[in-house]
Amino acid sequence: MRCGVCCLIFGVCVTPFDIIRIAKATGKKPIEFVGMMSGVAKVERGEPTVLIDNHPALIILRWGLGRMCPFYSEAGCVIYDDRPMVCRTYPFMVKKGKLIDTQSRACQVCWRPEDESGYRKDIKQHTKELKAYRKIADEWNKKGGSLEEFLAFALERAHPR
Ligand code: SF4
Repeated sequence: MRCGVCCLIFGVCVTPFDIIRIAKATGKKPIEFVGMMSGVAKVERGEPTVLIDNHPALIILRWGLGRMCPFYSEAGCVIYDDRPMVCRTYPFMVKKGKLIDTQSRACQVCWRPEDESGYRKDIKQHTKELKAYRKIADEWNKKGGSLEEFLAFALERAHPR
């Protein structure tokens, strides 16, 4: 519905693969748009926590005012074609082969896609990228470090030269 509600209230979890795509599309350095969220007890899609400065944290898009996504504008998402997989798939997930609502669904109108195939394709890719990210996070968490160090470590592994 493009209401933008989800862009204004959530921490938007990103994987290293999302970060690479956004950096390429915007020309920004990852550290300029990546932030952290700690103290989260539950995640819906199995995003890993990573040890940053000895604290477990989720990697998210850095918040703007309040909890506004830094890429949100009144005209819509300014990185729409390269938005994170969690945005591409929201507010759906696949369970037992069925496209179902996520618990975090915040839509003001309860809509369904006319064609589910795009969502199913994106959910499949997101699942694959999350799996690879969890492996990267497991490796990183043996040592941990700063956010800058994590970004260098994770992006190198997600996109080896
Ligand atoms: S990246 Fe775009 S779609 Fe995702 S939360 Fe931000 S403004 Fe919304």
